[in-house]
Formats: sequence, structure tokens, C-alpha cells
Amino acid sequence: MQINPCMKHKLIRDSVRDFAETELAPIAADIDRNAVFPLDVIKKMGKLNYFGLQVPKEFGGVAMDSVSASIVIEEISRVCAAVGLCIAVHNGVAIYPFLQFANAEQKKRYLPKLAGGEFIGAFSLTEANAGSDSASVETTAIRKKDGYVLNGTKIFVTNGGVCDLALIFALTGFEPGRPQSSVFIVESNYAGFLRGELEDLCGMRANPVSSLFLEDCCVPEKNLLGKVGDGMKIGLSTLDTGRIGIAAQALGIAQGAFEAAVKYAKERQQFKKPIASLQTIQNYIADMATEITAARLLLYRACSLKDEKVPFGCEASMAKLYCSSVASKVTSLAVQIHGGYGYSKEYDVERYFRDAKVTEIYEGTSEIQRLVIARSILSQLIL
Ligand SMILES: Cc1cc2nc3c(=O)[nH]c(=O)nc-3n(C[C@H](O)[C@H](O)[C@H](O)COP(=O)(O)OP(=O)(O)OC[C@H]3O[C@@H](n4cnc5c(N)ncnc54)[C@H](O)[C@@H]3O)c2cc1C
Repeated sequence: MQINPCMKHKLIRDSVRDFAETELAPIAADIDRNAVFPLDVIKKMGKLNYFGLQVPKEFGGVAMDSVSASIVIEEISRVCAAVGLCIAVHNGVAIYPFLQFANAEQKKRYLPKLAGGEFIGAFSLTEANAGSDSASVETTAIRKKDGYVLNGTKIFVTNGGVCDLALIFALTGFEPGRPQSSVFIVESNYAGFLRGELEDLCGMRANPVSSLFLEDCCVPEKNLLGKVGDGMKIGLSTLDTGRIGIAAQALGIAQGAFEAAVKYAKERQQFKKPIASLQTIQNYIADMATEITAARLLLYRACSLKDEKVPFGCEASMAKLYCSSVASKVTSLAVQIHGGYGYSKEYDVERYFRDAKVTEIYEGTSEIQRLVIARSILSQLIL
């Protein structure tokens, strides 16, 4: 039987919501407080194909369309943003480069393990002096007889503390006027691959974000992704896709905080009536609902363009910019609606509020998204 797309998306949403409510809701506050990555739940997610959302079936994935994949990330993040981050990064910036740039042998070797959740992936571009300015990477990859020797320090690596494989951006030379970088598939069991302490973060505390140290780390030649010098090309196109995942994550956080705020507004009595009956609170709720809906439409539009295989980078940046801004605003209003209790760890909105902020920072800050959007528009207009 052919299922129409809307029904398919509803079925996916219902089933992921059920999983998240059952498996993640009871532990989300604890794993945040204690900064624990929930490996047992992650294993179950692997069995449910949440780690191979857009991987072709021949490599063990479920080959979802981009709206479906976003719904999975959205629904997990609605309950636990740190686990949402794990799958957003794994399915986005860690797997997409394999789908787009890996050769047949690399796909065969790595995609089944990544899609089944046997390998957790990471994407490692950022360094102390290379954040928004990603071309300033200083990690080096020196050509030796059978491959490359990598040296350098990567910071803020999502999934870094548990990843089995990281895509490492490293300098391989200089073209006239600019450095030339390349991407390497580095397994965590390679000699010279070391993990730093976990970051003590404001939000997303259950994700093991860490530094990675490459100390004379030997990487075989067959683990070069794409061609020598493809680093910038791979990085930029991968981030276009990754931004859709972060937009979905931000949207899920906003949705979770919104639902909590509506529930609380109906329950909380002041002046002998529910605060939901106050027009000010109703205005907040109306604005939150409207902006979440607009964010969702912007996100699904970027997804549709991606699936139609037309350029979608500008729309992905718009979705990421808007969804993350809505997440910050909605979570702040959700705390406001909870009053003093919203500022206490007794209520989930405190966690949502902390988790939302970083969606405006990683995979390109909001300032960088505006740059991408403006450049795209200005390059098309004939002035
Ligand atoms: C929890 C977390 C997880 C992360 N996960 C990963 C990961 O998995 N892999 C990875 O590679 N990185 C990751 N990052 C790094 C993240 O992508 C960077 O922090 C981000 O790109 C910003 O870089 P920066 O922190 O160096 O800030 P900077 O680049 O130093 O920016 C500081 C400020 O200056 C502004 N700014 C900088 N340049 C411009 C410009 N040209 N125009 C206007 N404003 C500008 C920025 O918008 C920002 O407001 C993660 C970060 C965090 C916090």
C-alpha cells in the first residue's frame, strides 16, 4: 500500500514521540544534571534505525526523506535536546560527507556501522583559532609513505567523548594565497587519537562534547575523504545539511518548552484563577505558537528543496537562524510563564532554556547565517 507523505510523516512523529516519552522523558533531567550520556538508550535508538536516517537501504539505513529525518530529530529534542544533538550531528555532519564524497570502498566499510549505531560519528572542524573562521585550521596532515600523520588539537567536538570515528579537517598544504585543507576519516582506536576532558557546558550537558588531540596520529591513505584540498568544499556543503538538523533540534526544544508552558498556565492559579485566563499570558502563548509554526514551515521548505536536489544552502541557513532564535525566545517565555518555578531545576523549562542558546552558536553562529543568507541573495540580484 502506498502511504501518502502526510500520513507517513504523522506515523513517524507518533512512533518517535512514543519512544522519546517512554525512554528519554524519565531520565532527561537526571542525565542533564549529572552530565551522563545514556548509552543504553542510544543502543536502542541504533536498533530503531535512528542512526541511519538518510543512509541508503543497501548500507543498512532507512533512506528517509529530509522532512522525516527532521521530524525524528525534532521529536527526540522535544524531550531531550542533548540526545537530539547526538543524532543530529551523527546523521548530519558525520554521515552526509560519506554519502556525498566517500568512494565505494569507504561507503562499504563505514556506512553500515554508522547506520546501525555500532559507530557513533563526529565532525571535527573547530579549533582554538578556527571557529567562524573555519579556514584558519592549524591541525596538520603530513604525507608519509602509506598515508598521513596528523598533529593538532580540535575543540568542542559533539559526541567527542564517545565517538568511534571522527572526520578531521587538517591542513595538507598551501595554494597561492590560502591554506589548503583536507578531510580524514579517523577511527578512535588509531594510535595518537586522544580525547580531552568533557566540556562543562551550560546546556546539552548529557552530550559528551570534548576536545580531541591528534598526536602523530597515523591515518592510512585510504581514509582520505574526497581529494586532497577538498576540505573547504566538503566543510561548506556538509554544514548546509547540518544546519537543517540543528534547525530541527531547535524546533523540538521550542515545541517541548511551549507544551510545558501551556500545561503550567492552565494549572497555575493566581488571583483565584488559572494564569492562562490572563490576556498577557494568552498573548505569550499566541506568539509562541505562531512563531513555532512559522519556524516549522521554514524548516520543511529547506528539507523539500534538499530532497528536490536544488540549491538549499540559503534556505537551510534561514531555517537555522529562525528556528534557533524562536527556540531562545520561546524557552525564555516558557520560563517567564512558570515565574520563579521556571528558574528552578524542578521544572523542565529551566533545562530547555539552557539547551536552546547553543543552537544560535554551533554549526555557524546566527551572525554567520545572516552572512550566508545575504551573500546568497546579493549574488543573485543584478544591482
Ligand atoms: C556545545 C557545542 C558543540 C559544538 N560541536 C561542534 C562539533 O561537533 N564540531 C565542530 O567542528 N565544532 C563544534 N562546535 C563549535 C562551534 O561550531 C563554534 O563554537 C562556532 O562555529 C563559533 O565559533 P567560535 O566559538 O570560535 O566563535 P567566534 O568565531 O570566535 O565568534 C565569536 C563572535 O563573533 C562573531 N563573528 C565571528 N566572525 C564574524 C563575522 N565574520 N561576521 C560577524 N560576526 C562574526 C560570532 O558570530 C560570535 O558572535 C561546538 C560548539 C559548542 C558550544
